[in-house]
Amino acid sequence: MAKFVFITGGVVSGLGKGITSSSLALLLKARGYKVFMQKFDPYINVDPGTMSPYQHGEVYVTQDGAETDLDLGHYERFIDEELNYTSNITTGKIYSSVIEKERRGDYLGATVQIVPHITDEIKSKVYAAASTSGADIVLTEIGGTIGDIESQSFIESLRQIRNELGKENTAFVHCTLVPYIYGSNELKTKPTQHSVIELRGMGIQPDFIVTRSPEELNDHLKEKIALYCSIPKEHVIDSVDVKNIFQVPLNYHKQGMDELVLKQFGLEVKPSQIKYWEDLVDKVDNLKDEIEISLVGKYVELHDAYLSVAESLKHAGYANNVKININWVNSEDLEKIDDLKDVFKNTSGIIVPGGFGSRGIEGKIRAINYARENKVPFLGICLGMQLACIEFARNVCGLKGASSTEFDELCADPIIDLMAEQKEIINMGGTLRLGNYDCKLVKGTLAYEDYKQDEIKERHRHRYEFNNKYRDLLEEKGMTFSGINEKANLVEIIELKDHPHFIACQFHPEFKSRPTKPHPLFNSFIRESIKFK
Ligand code: GLN
Repeated sequence: MAKFVFITGGVVSGLGKGITSSSLALLLKARGYKVFMQKFDPYINVDPGTMSPYQHGEVYVTQDGAETDLDLGHYERFIDEELNYTSNITTGKIYSSVIEKERRGDYLGATVQIVPHITDEIKSKVYAAASTSGADIVLTEIGGTIGDIESQSFIESLRQIRNELGKENTAFVHCTLVPYIYGSNELKTKPTQHSVIELRGMGIQPDFIVTRSPEELNDHLKEKIALYCSIPKEHVIDSVDVKNIFQVPLNYHKQGMDELVLKQFGLEVKPSQIKYWEDLVDKVDNLKDEIEISLVGKYVELHDAYLSVAESLKHAGYANNVKININWVNSEDLEKIDDLKDVFKNTSGIIVPGGFGSRGIEGKIRAINYARENKVPFLGICLGMQLACIEFARNVCGLKGASSTEFDELCADPIIDLMAEQKEIINMGGTLRLGNYDCKLVKGTLAYEDYKQDEIKERHRHRYEFNNKYRDLLEEKGMTFSGINEKANLVEIIELKDHPHFIACQFHPEFKSRPTKPHPLFNSFIRESIKFK
């Protein structure tokens, strides 16, 4: 049977619970255990797929097509394991499945209640994470802060699991804030004490307390927290602010957190294979050169909207020994600027990531046009590929009315259009083309050179497709269709012949990039950007 770690947060939100959870999971994996991760989000949306990036940052997509919280991206990048639809559970998911069961008659005769029906449903999701993954240890992060009304049924479910499985099979990690108070010039543990009182009021005694603070906690403070919160002093884990988040697991490791968790579970403490991560931290702290990459999008004020793309650029930077400075370019601004040279004067590569809706589209098309004409390395992702095709159709093939039916339903040349099966869809939630699809690569292309494979699988999240009616024309004019989904005959990757590095894909490569394994498309993009510089 799997062991379970539950991570809660107290005092304030934004403590980096996701990084804490991922860091512990990474350490347990480095000790030779198979780990799996899950996040509970207390909101009523069934998934974040229908939320604006301004609300929620990016939507992360798993291989099996679940639209999830961006924390899952941290999880996958840290533990390098593929997560699945059991990895992100919302209140909306729990309630819709309980209500569906009620309507079906599964509870005939009973009054359907939060305890036990909702809590049983939540518990079943924890166990499903263990059974679908076959993991030795499942780590579940509970979104929100202790005391929130929304998360109460989740906390109650975890209390029940602890009661059923005992301390040797479950561990509670509570993350809190230890603020520095100016004036008295000291770190304060009182908010942590109060947060633990609140957690205890819900029937949960934490086993570990992870304290986020601007300075390291001294022994005295750790002792104080241990005393008031009834845990051994060694179970107070200091999580001091760091410049490089990859340092976090190493800090926990130094304090013995992984070993202590394994001991609580009665699991063998095998030697830690953490050297690869230490090397990564070392590399990240000592990058030789720098380059600027322009990321053109409409949500650029909110960097979280492009989190995985930004991380993927950095990963490729590590592999190529350069620090990536992202020039965040608002696509709407580009619509008003006369000479794009001013915007891109220090730029060595241009990336246009995914997006939805018509705002800022013409600005992105101008950026693509600039990259194409000035031979600046270009990587387009999803909407970025669709717009690269539109730009090419308009400015090289002379189809002035080229567009996507997403922004202009009646355009003269719908280069990008809905597939027949998408036209019948009424619901917006969960109905995009999602998750892994096959793509066959054409030999002799940039894409093939990058992947060095005939067949790849990549994750998708889009509704519109390249319109095959225009394939011959664009090909004649110099576009190569280097990746195709053969089953549905869909364009997956395009590139240009008359350009050193212009490539774009319909899928989202950013979901598969890892700090120590950059994605091939990002890797070559950064390599070529360095050459361009
Ligand atoms: N809006 C486009 C579509 O739905 C692109 C989506 C994306 O970039 N993720 O097809």
